[in-house]
Amino acid sequence: MLDSYGRKIEYLRLSITDLCNLRCKYCMGEDGVCKKDHRHILTIEELTLIAQVFHQKGVKKLRVTGGEPLVRKGFDILARNLEEIGFDTLAITTNGVLLPKYADTLRESGFSRVNVSLDSLDKDVYRDVTRGGNLEDALRGIDTALKAGFDKVKVNAVLMKGVNDDSIYDFALFGAEKGVDVRFIELMPFEASYSYAKDKFISCDILTSKHNLTLVGTDGNCRTYAFPDGLKIGFIAPKSHKFCSQCNRVRVTADGKMLNCLHENKEYDLTNYLCDEDALSRRIDEVVKEKPLCHAMYETDAQTRPMGNIGG
Ligand code: SAM
Ligand code: SF4
Repeated sequence: MLDSYGRKIEYLRLSITDLCNLRCKYCMGEDGVCKKDHRHILTIEELTLIAQVFHQKGVKKLRVTGGEPLVRKGFDILARNLEEIGFDTLAITTNGVLLPKYADTLRESGFSRVNVSLDSLDKDVYRDVTRGGNLEDALRGIDTALKAGFDKVKVNAVLMKGVNDDSIYDFALFGAEKGVDVRFIELMPFEASYSYAKDKFISCDILTSKHNLTLVGTDGNCRTYAFPDGLKIGFIAPKSHKFCSQCNRVRVTADGKMLNCLHENKEYDLTNYLCDEDALSRRIDEVVKEKPLCHAMYETDAQTRPMGNIGG
């Protein structure tokens, strides 16, 4: 699938629930999501159909996300369905808390890549940012994933001024000790978390120069830097180093809306097309043609859907 700027769309991020067992302050409001909407959430069969049609259209990589994907009822059935479809890469983004329960299911269903979100190595900060999460649970999740033998386990932290911007070296050390890549992601603006996030953005560039880091490589959207002693840390900087020109992804939310760009307040309903595969396929083509050339994050209104309602 090509968009109207010639970018090949090969990567689908499929959100399978907007529910979550944490309440990260930069992601969603204190009350989480609105339960009454849940009759609109896609069934396992509908999620499978959407994945299948994207695969037929040339999508090679599928990342399951949420909300917290591992709280989705029927996750194990969906995982096996996705394996049967035959994507080149099956990946998941999770807060890690339920990995001890599901790591084997993921491995048996052909998932090869696991990203675990972890914003602090300090239990009090972690508890505060996640509104009650237990750091030990997330660490246990990471250890379980490492033991389970996935091709890649990565740790993602959202970079926040005054919260974790003083701990990038500690994270680099943690990554080296565990044998995982740690990447900091620049904080992105969402209406639901605006009051928490408004004064916490700090660009990756400030930290790379403060710590005298050297750029040693790039891997997709991630730029890897080395500290003077050789320890490495990754930065994903959608604001200060836009990667829109290489964007190969689209998103589908758990209520069946397709989004071309995380920062565009535009969504396309796929639910009316779910009883006709050809019509769904044509609709996806139409939507992809509208993918914008570039995001305008921090320049236009913040995304009105919370991140946990889109899927990161
Ligand atoms: N619950 C899973 C998790 O936390 O990994 C998957 C869903 S979560 C929405 C996906 C990713 O989005 C997480 O890595 C999270 O840190 C990131 N995220 C959420 N809100 C964000 C924001 N305002 N800015 C940057 N990243 C954000
Ligand atoms: Fe839940 Fe992930 Fe959002 Fe945190 S970032 S509230 S774990 S969906």
